[in-house]
Amino acid sequence: MSFQVAVDGPAGSGKSSVSKLIAKKYGFTYLDTGAMYRACAYIRTSFADDDISFIKILENTDMRFEPSPSGQRMFINIAGKETEVTDIIRTPEITAKVGEISAMPDVRRLMTAKQQELAERGEVIMEGRDIGTVVMPEADVKFFFTASPTERARRRQAEWQTKGVEVPLEQLENDILKRDEMDSSRTEAPLKKADDALELDTTGLTIDEVISIMSAEIERKRKA
Ligand code: C5P
Repeated sequence: MSFQVAVDGPAGSGKSSVSKLIAKKYGFTYLDTGAMYRACAYIRTSFADDDISFIKILENTDMRFEPSPSGQRMFINIAGKETEVTDIIRTPEITAKVGEISAMPDVRRLMTAKQQELAERGEVIMEGRDIGTVVMPEADVKFFFTASPTERARRRQAEWQTKGVEVPLEQLENDILKRDEMDSSRTEAPLKKADDALELDTTGLTIDEVISIMSAEIERKRKA
């Protein structure tokens, strides 16, 4: 059986936390496409000397996810050598680089193909920026999350605090706004709401409230 759920929205809008829980609740495969673009940024900075060799390396890279108690571990395999990238792709350096890397047409072509291959395999919930518009335009259910920039920065700050790192709110808000601007203004697959996506402002909503709104929509479409 095939069932596709697309979740798009800017950084900190709450996509990841709830998409993982929805995947667990319904037994869907979960795919964090942002992690894939982050892994690309890591490959560019650590394994490639220039953009041409970068794309060559990327063409020969496998990416794999593995469930873990804290969410998901991610591995890349370049020429038979596997490296875990779970934590390294979340560093401020990679976060600062990913907007530029994800705007490269060749990078998007390769990642979109991988994501579409996965989308064919049964029931999936995929989150990112262009899932409802480009990767799974025929998805059964589409959500577009938003939240105020201050709320999004607060969520990121809380995430860092769980790792024992204190980052000023203003810095996080500036970073988020900069990334939103890059993601929304690029020519290739910009961040934008699909016409048929349900827009959900998660500012002030609890995770449980978001889950229950999404579940109602998913169950309605599954019965249809
Ligand atoms: O979701 P996350 O914040 O980890 O995504 C990191 C970056 O990856 C985004 O800021 C965006 O530049 C890129 N991205 C993208 N398309 C997606 C998912 C993420 O361009 N589908």
